[in-house]
Amino acid sequence: MPDPEQARNPEGEDGPLALRVRNLTFTYPPPSRNARPRTALKDVSFGIPEGDFFCILGPNGSGKSTLFRVLTTATLPPSGAVSFFGNEPDGRLREIRRSLGVVFQNPALDKKLTVDENLSCHGKLYAMSAESIASRSDEILSLLGIAGRRGEPVETLSGGLARRVELAKALLHSPRLLLLDEPTTGLDPTARFEFLRLLREIRTGAGTTIVYTTHILEESEECDGILILDDGAIVASGSPTELRSEIGKELIIMQSSEPSKLLESVKQQYGLPVYRVDDTVRVECDNASALIGELLRAYEGTVDMVSFSRPSIGDVYIKKTGRRFVTNNGGPA
Ligand code: ADP
Ligand code: MG
Repeated sequence: MPDPEQARNPEGEDGPLALRVRNLTFTYPPPSRNARPRTALKDVSFGIPEGDFFCILGPNGSGKSTLFRVLTTATLPPSGAVSFFGNEPDGRLREIRRSLGVVFQNPALDKKLTVDENLSCHGKLYAMSAESIASRSDEILSLLGIAGRRGEPVETLSGGLARRVELAKALLHSPRLLLLDEPTTGLDPTARFEFLRLLREIRTGAGTTIVYTTHILEESEECDGILILDDGAIVASGSPTELRSEIGKELIIMQSSEPSKLLESVKQQYGLPVYRVDDTVRVECDNASALIGELLRAYEGTVDMVSFSRPSIGDVYIKKTGRRFVTNNGGPA
């Protein structure tokens, strides 16, 4: 794998980085005397170019929220370094925090207060004047399609609309960098799609750098850059196109009751990248439609089912880890 920090848009070539993380390792203290400490991040290094729409993808427990806390400066890195627009937090924490907008995974709104009141409280915390709170609120609530609900208590809004209020709050003080931890968790597919569309619109309109975490594979397919975390380590990073191109143009997936035997034979006969996951054998190739016929003839009786597709980010994860990407509810994605 190329150096993740340098893999895409290295600083100096394609513009400055909004975020740079170098050699970040994070270990939680043991919960009890006999327990072992838990290393949640292992030597993580990467860069996010300014203006990017960037996804941190990983299954549950892969370290996303731990990394998120470091990226929001809620936790200072015990080892390694993090810089924001070229600045290290040392002595500039206040200034850096002003440039960040943060949406945490857990709701951070006062449900009894109205949308406007929530925004107003946030604006005052950031020392914004009443006029600028009012004008920014107008602008953002209209952009996010919730201006008509501004006088209503947050508790009367649907989950999808309440998330948009969280987003409005995070954007009120015009941050340069917006950080969101699993912002779509709990939303139905339509609301998830709509939320991500709004994020992309904000990036395009205001040029805000956007970094979000997710455990949902499909949410990583249309970003500018992805970092895939697994058990605290980076397993892949780059643009979706770059990552997919690490696999051949197409991927043939054969299901078999004798996957080991099939694997060995295909490996020897075809000289193509081939690997096994559970009861399937995966072959990377450039001409799936031609090759499938040949494979079916050669392994008649051994192959129970066959399919082919262009590689997805899920396929990249499988290639890098040898495992399927498991979603929140325990099933494969
Ligand atoms: P994710 O957000 O991807 O689900 P987390 O960053 O929450 O992952 O957790 C990464 C690992 O660190 C997990 O093994 C988790 O159990 C552990 N962990 C998270 N928070 C704590 C904590 N406060 N104390 C000890 N271990 C923790
Ligand atoms: Mg998390």
